[in-house]
Amino acid sequence: MGQNRIKSIKEYKYSTKEDLERYNRQMLLKDWNQEKLLNSTVFIAGIGALGTIIALNLAMMGVGHLILCDFDTVELSNLARQVLFEEEDIGKAKVLAAKNALKRINPTIKITTYNKKLETLERKIFEECDVIADGLDTFEARRWLNSLCVTLNKPLVHGGMYGWMGNVQVVIPFKTPCLECHPLIPQQRLQKPCTPPGEARREERKEEEGEKEKIPTIATVSTVIAGIQSQEIIKILLSSDEILEGFLSYDGRSESLTKVPLVQNPNCIICGEYRLKGTDFAIDEKDTIRAIKNRLIMTWGLQEPIRVVIRGVIQEDTVKIQDLHIKENEPIFVWDKLLSKPLKLYAVFKAKKVSPILMIPKKEEEKKGVKWSSMKELVVDKGKVTYHKNLLKIQAIDKGQEIRFFKTLHLTKIKRKIRYKIKES
Ligand SMILES: [Zn+2]
Repeated sequence: MGQNRIKSIKEYKYSTKEDLERYNRQMLLKDWNQEKLLNSTVFIAGIGALGTIIALNLAMMGVGHLILCDFDTVELSNLARQVLFEEEDIGKAKVLAAKNALKRINPTIKITTYNKKLETLERKIFEECDVIADGLDTFEARRWLNSLCVTLNKPLVHGGMYGWMGNVQVVIPFKTPCLECHPLIPQQRLQKPCTPPGEARREERKEEEGEKEKIPTIATVSTVIAGIQSQEIIKILLSSDEILEGFLSYDGRSESLTKVPLVQNPNCIICGEYRLKGTDFAIDEKDTIRAIKNRLIMTWGLQEPIRVVIRGVIQEDTVKIQDLHIKENEPIFVWDKLLSKPLKLYAVFKAKKVSPILMIPKKEEEKKGVKWSSMKELVVDKGKVTYHKNLLKIQAIDKGQEIRFFKTLHLTKIKRKIRYKIKES
């Protein structure tokens, strides 16, 4: 919003006076700022059922610059819910058909199109945006976009749907949970968060059989979800202090809206401390790179192909840690195609136990009279550590308590001991 595009409003074919007339009704709102909207840029990823409606709403409301990205072409089956497209658009690039339709509705705004895969665009295109809208329909692209938004510190307005159900979540990086923080919703459900169990199993079977999954969607639900997304985008652009919090779930059958509170996950690989500072990662002299990759898949859901870089070299699966002569705390960089930036891990050899000296309360906290409980412990299976930490954190927040975690101990190959203290106020 820092860009001073309002000065260039005279460059538009239509005068400010016409703008005033065009946006007259919405400008009656007390907290409205049309100038701000005209100076804003919104990136819309995916020009399908959600993306077309978001683009339409934002164009009508006078968001000055819309960037549309999609590499698909219009098909007959799109016309049942993807507004902006007509029969004669079939076979045309979606972004171009959408641009033409939007220009007919509001010729005064700027529209940029990319008929490309999202992941192939230059970073600076995203950097120039004020908000990024998620109208995507694949889990992988959505994870990548979430990772990018956090890396670039850009607000992301996510929407998803399945049949009669839909959901919306706003991600303000480092302030609200990102899509990977979800403590109670498994990552694989992000794409289809509301799938009834039977349907999920049927779809999984289809995927196993190699058939491309088609998500059931209807125009009325996409209108509701994209409408809420558009509204949140406008509110972010207007610097509203009432941005949607948590995970908003919509059920079109009962017409119910449910807000599920979400907690930012300090262990999130995308927006948690891991991301900023790097994190300890237990390894063993006998480990191969393959074994480390398997643990990365289990711990953080990374997806193949995974790259493990030690001392600037991509390591082969068969390489053994003992042959690399890695030192304690040496950095290991890891990423997969869904991460827009590598994770930084520090090698911690399992044999070496963590010194209890690291434990808190710190002296300064003792001075202020803050009391922490004695060390509490919970034994869980490997791969479930983050999940249980989140549950503990949610329980603590519910009780108005503060929780602090200490180094998780590796008891056996499959058992881990979570150690934590509760702040008693
Ligand atoms: Zn996160």
